[in-house]
Amino acid sequence: MVFFAVSVTAGFSLKGPAGVVETNVHRYYGAQYIDINSIVKAFGMEFCWDPVLKEAKLEAPGFVLLMSLNNKYVSANGKTFEMRGPLVLRGGILYVPAGVKEQVIDLYIKTGNPAVKEEAGDLRNFKIVIDPGHGGENIGARNKNGANEKTIVLDISKKVAAILGKTGLRVVMTRDKDVFVTLAKRCDIARSEKADLFMSVHANSAPAKSVTGIETFVLGVPTSEIVKSIEEIEDGDLALGDSAYQGGSSGQVDSARRKRLSKRLACFINEEVVKSAQVKNRGVKEARFYVLRNTDMPAVLVEVGFISNADESVLLLHEDYRQKIAEGIASGVIKYFREML
Ligand SMILES: [Zn+2]
Repeated sequence: MVFFAVSVTAGFSLKGPAGVVETNVHRYYGAQYIDINSIVKAFGMEFCWDPVLKEAKLEAPGFVLLMSLNNKYVSANGKTFEMRGPLVLRGGILYVPAGVKEQVIDLYIKTGNPAVKEEAGDLRNFKIVIDPGHGGENIGARNKNGANEKTIVLDISKKVAAILGKTGLRVVMTRDKDVFVTLAKRCDIARSEKADLFMSVHANSAPAKSVTGIETFVLGVPTSEIVKSIEEIEDGDLALGDSAYQGGSSGQVDSARRKRLSKRLACFINEEVVKSAQVKNRGVKEARFYVLRNTDMPAVLVEVGFISNADESVLLLHEDYRQKIAEGIASGVIKYFREML
């Protein structure tokens, strides 16, 4: 994911104690709004703006706040809050409903968030289903140098499972050997295991052989023809139809929450893999893969690299490189669950 730092309003100076927001109050949608820069400054937060997803991320130690443009639901450490109005962009400046400070940030930062523990914590209350793509006669992407998707993603998934298992996290694999498993069966496993997280692991292929890097998908509407073609490849001969996601009890908030959490995880995975394996970050993308549409917990599909690229496919054939990818994915997952503690 590409984040651009947005400059803090020129001339703004903070005179009061930390956490005191000095700013003019604006009014949109019948609610009071404040300039996001003043919040960032007052709490000494890190601020990132994703211009593609139109999502703002404010971070302080032990605290992460996510807001989407024109959306009144905000997520603080994975918990969803409804504001009186949506995040708005006016004249190049983001304005947030005053409630974001009064009801959300103050709760976590001034009083300290009782839900955030300093300790690394024990992840044994959480369960992840790891889904190595393809298998058996379904080989997935191939390169004439011998690299094939089903083998590479199985090995990476097993390495991820081994690392995660040491944290106490409960790990279930949809396949742990070279067998064919239907997409429906993979989703059944995630549901029947009542997993907290579903993560499908794939390797990419593109007509442009020069393309490299990691990208992680969450459920959503594909924004490019390239993504649509990846959907078709990964879902094989399944009729995609237009059966939009219809998760069990997901109302508007649950569904929004699921998407936010999925994006959060996707962002962590990309960032951590970039750190561990020095690959290009192609960002968090939206697609309607079968396994994302038909699971009802936060779910991502990681494309660990491009089998179609000569150099990257050779790297993926190396055990130590797959280990680095696995370590990155695992630390993204661990970061995600630690926020839930
Ligand atoms: Zn695949």
